[in-house]
Amino acid sequence: MLNGKTAIVTGSTSGIGLTIAESLAEQGANIVLNGIEPAAQVDPVVQGLKEKWGVGVQFDGADMRDPAQIETMVSGAEGEFGSVDILVNNAGIQNVAPVDEFPVDKWDAIIAINMSSAFHTTRAALPGMKKRGWGRIINLASAHGLVASPFKSAYVAAKHGVVGLTKTVALEVAEQGITCNAICPGYVRTPLVEKQIPATAEARGITEEEVIRDVMLAAQPTKRFVDTSELGALAVFLCSEAASSMTGSALPVDGGWTAH
Ligand code: NAD
Repeated sequence: MLNGKTAIVTGSTSGIGLTIAESLAEQGANIVLNGIEPAAQVDPVVQGLKEKWGVGVQFDGADMRDPAQIETMVSGAEGEFGSVDILVNNAGIQNVAPVDEFPVDKWDAIIAINMSSAFHTTRAALPGMKKRGWGRIINLASAHGLVASPFKSAYVAAKHGVVGLTKTVALEVAEQGITCNAICPGYVRTPLVEKQIPATAEARGITEEEVIRDVMLAAQPTKRFVDTSELGALAVFLCSEAASSMTGSALPVDGGWTAH
């Protein structure tokens, strides 16, 4: 379905991004993987995707805090593969602390990686998409792009910002064959969530088991973590022609959390 197309997936060395990259490769798209891990560590993943799906795969270690590195990543992908047709803004980090104790450097990093990087990738990739009259931009927001939780001020602010950016970009390019949507997952048990369990336990003064049962899955009526494969499948659908009229949407995949 995506033969000849090229996708950049930011933050795709782990978790949700890696599954989305695999799902797009399975459909025939060339893939640019991105993340903060050393290239040598990612090499087996690069080789694995190439061999399994017969697509072009490149790793770019651009730091999503740095607009210049982001621009180089997008132009490098265009140079290597000829186009960037699909952009998945997925890189993200988290920090859990009361707002009046929130470390300023963590606030700045979360806003840069979780929100501003999507602006920088989008502005770099859009001219090519406009020229070709086709593009898919998928922003990994969160249920926290729609509702808040305590102790996650930077993350909630950034994810609400991503939903706003998604709507604005969608309106600007609506007549040019380009869609822009946000996926808003509930809790997915990736390394990002594993790290939050002890931090949330400390912030709330409860045990780690209570965090999983009473904080995370309490918010999710299905009482199960979302699986990354569910997000990969949705990303593939958003890249299909059947999704041509879906744009500017913030799509919850949250086990009913935001239906509360
Ligand atoms: P993860 O921790 O498993 O992966 C994060 C990825 O981001 C890694 O590939 C890492 O290398 C990359 N990254 C971190 N800092 C970076 C930087 N400065 N520059 C470039 N890459 C960087 O996380 P995940 O759980 O798979 O989350 C992926 C996205 O989904 C994030 O935007 C997150 O906010 C969102 N999300 C996650 C959940 C969840 O429950 N896991 C829920 C809703 C939304």
